[in-house]
Amino acid sequence: MASFDPDRISLPGGHYIHGRLVQETGTLPVSRPSDGKVYAMLPSADAGCVDAAVDSARRAFGGSDWARRPPRDRARAMRRWADLIEADIDYLAALESLGSTRPIDQARAWDVPYTAEGIRFFAEFADKCGGEVAATAHDHLGMQIAEPLGVVGAIAPWNFPLSMTCWKVAPALAAGNTVVLKPSEMTPFSAVRLATLAVEAGVPPGVFNVIQGSGPVAGEALCRHPGVAKVTFTGSTGTGRAVMRACAETGPKPVTLELGGKSPQLVFADVPDLDRTAQTLAAAITGNAGQVCVAGSRLLVERPLLEPLVERLQQCFATLEPGLTWHAGTRFSPLISDAQARRVETIVSRAREAGAELLTGGTRFDTESGGCFYRPTILQVGASDNPAVREEIFGPVLTIQAFDDEEEALGLAEHEIYGLAAGVHTADLGRALRAVRRLSAGTVWVNRYGRSRDYILPTGGYKRSGIGRDLGRAAYEANLHHKSVLVDLTP
Ligand code: NAD
Repeated sequence: MASFDPDRISLPGGHYIHGRLVQETGTLPVSRPSDGKVYAMLPSADAGCVDAAVDSARRAFGGSDWARRPPRDRARAMRRWADLIEADIDYLAALESLGSTRPIDQARAWDVPYTAEGIRFFAEFADKCGGEVAATAHDHLGMQIAEPLGVVGAIAPWNFPLSMTCWKVAPALAAGNTVVLKPSEMTPFSAVRLATLAVEAGVPPGVFNVIQGSGPVAGEALCRHPGVAKVTFTGSTGTGRAVMRACAETGPKPVTLELGGKSPQLVFADVPDLDRTAQTLAAAITGNAGQVCVAGSRLLVERPLLEPLVERLQQCFATLEPGLTWHAGTRFSPLISDAQARRVETIVSRAREAGAELLTGGTRFDTESGGCFYRPTILQVGASDNPAVREEIFGPVLTIQAFDDEEEALGLAEHEIYGLAAGVHTADLGRALRAVRRLSAGTVWVNRYGRSRDYILPTGGYKRSGIGRDLGRAAYEANLHHKSVLVDLTP
């Protein structure tokens, strides 16, 4: 399927609890970013609904065989689930791109297959990480037995609804936990489809539940629920603080927090192919219209490259035309909402008042669709305390600062608040590795930028960009606790 008609996609509305869709009268309007049309009214889980979902997950943890079945059988059910997701690509990709900022081509080429393969990746851990034997005295046997935590509460953002659900839910389920997920109220539907397919694949009802609703009501109630053993959250740093507070006040219970970013890209004058580097840099700030936690939003350029690089970036940006997410061929996404567009405008205007020079962009595209499309924008900035450098914008806005030597570049790269990712572009391996050592970032990409399908590499933040890791072995381990056992072997 290429383009599709957004008015003809049926929606798996409501919550999904114990293997059943729970339809309720919706009160939260859900809009399509491409044209601003309200296309659904979403129910919002109250405390009773959150109770029901957590109770379902608790019953499935204790009463189904999910946590106790041979781990290879758990893995097999997850692999079947991944197969069903791939087979459902027409519907799932349409559901994803209908109400999110993900163009249909990208949902088909990336989000759906990435989600299915991510589930397979975590399924493979199920029978490979069971604990370890400890080095105790010879007349004793010491072990650490890995056990699932129980009910994991998962909260996801709107920017990549399917893949963020996969990052949260797949490691938790593979480790034998059960899950209650709250997707973003702005992109609520693809997660319900994922949960339905899980049950079809043989995951017992109640193992993966979805509740809908607003963050401060449904999300907060999930974090505070005494039946939830751990919360895994992806979203903004401010909300992460609220999640941690709720978990501290009602536990404490463990949290994984994947939060905001303001990631630098350092470009040295020795890059061998400036055209290619410019394309990488442009994609890093315009992909998903900059609504990416690891967007490469702070460009640091060795001074001789400043003008030629800006010129090339402008050429790349000029090829991007806004498009509806349900049209094949769309490469440039809308912003998620008018509120988000106003936020981008406000920060750009404050940045200019504080001395930033607008080199390109700086306004919305003039479109008929009703969606909010913001032009790829470059702001040349002198001082690092400029709002466009300090604040996560979550739009296609790149700041650019020139440096004269490596030391200055590394100084500018350091951000007061965030440390999610960074990019280094240079032909000098020694310099690249010196930068890797010095950069405060959970991920550093060298001579490339952005995620690959290497699920084995964990992702997460330094500083206030997060606590804990998604992906990799670390994400699986974070869904287990270890019981120490010491056996006296003396006759
Ligand atoms: P957000 O913080 O507004 O919302 C995220 C989720 O939290 C939503 O489901 C929301 O309903 C819920 N929520 C809101 N208030 C809550 C509360 N008080 N208690 C519990 N849950 C609550 O973030 P967003 O706007 O959906 O997503 C964008 C943000 O996510 C950006 O800051 C981006 O950098 C970050 N993000 C980080 C990563 C990462 O891996 N580090 C990945 C994607 C997005």
